[in-house]
Amino acid sequence: MSAKTILMNEQLVQYLRKNSVREPEVLIELREETQKLPNSGMQISPEQGQLMSMLVKLVSARKIVEIGTFTGYSSTVMALAMPKEGKLIAFDISEEYTRTARIFWKKAGVDQQIKLVLGNAKESLKNFLQAGEQESIDLAFIDADKTSYIEYYECCLQLIRPGGLILVDNVLWGGQVADVSSQNKDTEALRVFNSKLSDDQRVDLCMVPIGDGLTIARKR
Ligand code: CA
Repeated sequence: MSAKTILMNEQLVQYLRKNSVREPEVLIELREETQKLPNSGMQISPEQGQLMSMLVKLVSARKIVEIGTFTGYSSTVMALAMPKEGKLIAFDISEEYTRTARIFWKKAGVDQQIKLVLGNAKESLKNFLQAGEQESIDLAFIDADKTSYIEYYECCLQLIRPGGLILVDNVLWGGQVADVSSQNKDTEALRVFNSKLSDDQRVDLCMVPIGDGLTIARKR
């Protein structure tokens, strides 16, 4: 019994994965494919993917927005958790990485459910809002450039319906957010973001120490 969160080591992570993670074959393959890339650390962990899949089901999400798609692990796992009529709009800047995502969306049979919007996500989100999408989204996942998190979050808060969720990745940033000696601009941006959310009465809040830290904000 403990009032503290358990510290995970490699052995315990393997145990947790073996005893709870149900990762579809297509996602195992995508993870292996992504490992070959120089930025493979940008991919979420399978246990985080499973938590996100659970959250999609818990809020009965039918319309999801993702900011930062990379090679498509999170979009695939979330699309698979929705019924066939569900839609996911994926915003990303990289044609190169999302090429892998497109291949795996097809393999997973979710390509018809996902719409990829390439380009500057801030502009794309503004266009999306202007098109009248306020409060039309059930769940948003933010996992792109850290210095823009506040702007993405504010846009998502307008897009999400009351009771909908905003998930934000990398909020613990490898532990650097709590390390005063770390002062690079991404770490500083995440500190400002985390501090802002802790006082934000527009949402219910929970920062989960899974993967690199996942914040769950529920719009009130
Ligand atoms: Ca991430």
